[in-house]
Amino acid sequence: MKITVASGKGGTGKTTIAVNLALSVKNSMLIDCDVEGPNSHLFFREPMVKIKDVSIPAPKFDLDTCTLCGKCAEFCQYNAISIIGEKLLFFEELCHGCGGCKIICPVDAITEVDHNVGLIEKGGTEDLPVYHGLLNISEPFGVPIINELKQFADASKITIFDSPPGTACPAVETMRDVDFCILVTEPTPFGLHDLTLTVDVIRQIGTPFGVVVNRDGIGDDRVDQYCEKEGIPLLAKIPNDMEVAKLYSRGVPMVTGLPKYRKLFEEMFQKIREMV
Ligand code: SF4
Ligand code: SF4
Repeated sequence: MKITVASGKGGTGKTTIAVNLALSVKNSMLIDCDVEGPNSHLFFREPMVKIKDVSIPAPKFDLDTCTLCGKCAEFCQYNAISIIGEKLLFFEELCHGCGGCKIICPVDAITEVDHNVGLIEKGGTEDLPVYHGLLNISEPFGVPIINELKQFADASKITIFDSPPGTACPAVETMRDVDFCILVTEPTPFGLHDLTLTVDVIRQIGTPFGVVVNRDGIGDDRVDQYCEKEGIPLLAKIPNDMEVAKLYSRGVPMVTGLPKYRKLFEEMFQKIREMV
């Protein structure tokens, strides 16, 4: 089973939920897809070790053959190619590696070369492997690394994906092709606002989903009312517990430092199991 833990904004406790769920479920693995700033591994003592580079195919232009017809620049929807006067300019950092310019060039002036965008590391234990991706600084597009990371999901295990925050392409990619999505929010007006945006997106994707309220007790009950009105299952409420915050600051998962919380995550998983 594949479960993605997502949230409309950073700082809602998405990683906390992903890590503690992975620790509470037997035969699980954790894949942190927040490739711009993965931090799930901080809750595990084992070091992360590089296992793979990730590259995309970027065009290489043979300027002796190029006729400056401009068809590649016209085609590229990411504006990675420009023809200025007698010059072809290529902005590598805008290229998404789609390969379209190579296909469209009428004189075969384009070949492809590997452009490294980041890497994948593995840590954790044999019982609970942890993977994450690291996008190179200055690279704007993490989806190729997320796609590679998703290949490591083991069909014989419960795979927990920690999604990038927000509703842009990297988050959408992590919420697609999974069995269930947990949307983490806080009981505040900001939390509710971001939750409604994420619900709009996940309904379009079509992945079954439910909501976890983190830091329950800091705000009001508008998230509860919204979920009830929209028919969205409320999977769990994590209390706003100072002991949990103290453990978090020391990199100790709540189910390890306060075993009473393990039951909460086990019950959350049981609810998900019944829905998929
Ligand atoms: S490979 Fe795709 S994204 Fe990159 S320059 Fe060519 S058309 Fe643009
Ligand atoms: S499509 Fe080919 S020939 Fe035309 S500008 Fe691009 S590289 Fe040059």
